[in-house]
Amino acid sequence: MSFLIDLECSDCGKQLPADRLRNLCPDCGRPLLARYDTEEAGKALTPDILAMREPTLWRYREMLPVRDESAIVTLGEGGTPLMHARRLGERLGMDGLYIKDESVNPTGSFKARGLAMAVSRALELGAESLAVPSAGNAAGALSAYGARAGIPVHVFMPRDTPLPFIVECRAHGAAVELVDGLITDCGKQVAARKDAEGWFDVSTLKEPYRVEGKKTMGYELAEQCGWVLPDAILYPAGGGTGLIGMWKAFSEMEALGWIGPERPRMVAVQAAGCQPIVRAWEQQWPDAPEWENARTLASGLRVPAAVGDKLMLAAIRESGGDAVAVPDGDMVRGVREIGACEGIFAAPEGGAVLAGLRKMIALGRIDRSDRVVLFNTGSGHKYVDNLDALHGDQDA
Ligand SMILES: *Cc1c(COP(=O)(O)O)cnc(C)c1O
Repeated sequence: MSFLIDLECSDCGKQLPADRLRNLCPDCGRPLLARYDTEEAGKALTPDILAMREPTLWRYREMLPVRDESAIVTLGEGGTPLMHARRLGERLGMDGLYIKDESVNPTGSFKARGLAMAVSRALELGAESLAVPSAGNAAGALSAYGARAGIPVHVFMPRDTPLPFIVECRAHGAAVELVDGLITDCGKQVAARKDAEGWFDVSTLKEPYRVEGKKTMGYELAEQCGWVLPDAILYPAGGGTGLIGMWKAFSEMEALGWIGPERPRMVAVQAAGCQPIVRAWEQQWPDAPEWENARTLASGLRVPAAVGDKLMLAAIRESGGDAVAVPDGDMVRGVREIGACEGIFAAPEGGAVLAGLRKMIALGRIDRSDRVVLFNTGSGHKYVDNLDALHGDQDA
């Protein structure tokens, strides 16, 4: 079912057989990406065949890494709606504004896509227990998919992670460790202990398959847009996995013959209190050094350093895109506007992209006549205490 060929280092180009557990490139320490035989996959899978398949991300299985169907661990992830945001668009003077609503995924965020893929593939390749550093949603998703697979899970989260994320992991039977520090400090703990403990590290992009799960957002978007991509995509970037994944999906779909060479401008939106990619983009740096004293209520954006920094910057550059930062207060107002206009209870990361859109319009970098897709990457439910505390008394 899968047309996976091998893994290739995104930086030095080293090629490695795919069918054993792997983390980063053994030569240069950068992310490995999966390659597929698009020629053969394009014969086996066509848009007409797709149209008859089940509405989950597994409809793209020829272009996904799991080889044996019996290894698939699923909770029904993917197949999320692309909604025409008419009322919100009216406020902004836009006819072509859309929201891809990832909050309806299992565990309430698009992390389900990546972890469904990573857990399935880890199981297929013989992993016996899994560990992850997380700002919140990745831990919840890994815990749920680990439980579904019957495999032990260890999650490491910052001590100040909102309680719902922690309770969720415990409810799925995961071992939860709270760390004094940020997600990067959690990552160091996993790295230091994984060999002795026998854990397979599923940190995003330090493992090649979470990005394969998240790339399906790009496939779905193309399919839902009738194979004509929008003018711009606004994406709340932490580790950048979704941005990198969608960018990869667009190349793959062109190779499959499903879309042409046109690409949306990829806009990374970050928090004012943690904006390593925006800084690197504005300074035209080749990579994004760690952001000091990272602070934001959008836990998914509290990622001070990302191993996929170069890949993110490349996608922004090659697409003619951009990177902008927005303050937490604007995210909360964005959550309220999306909620009040469209009936979607967005995560602060979703509110952030709306604030980012306003900024891009004000700067003249997005036109009101453009077709624009905002990614709401998660549900607001796990953030209610923080949403309420910040600007709890203000109206949108
Ligand atoms: C993890 C997360 C993000 C950031 O995702 P990346 O693809 O790693 O950049 C954004 N929003 C939410 C709700 C998240 O959980």
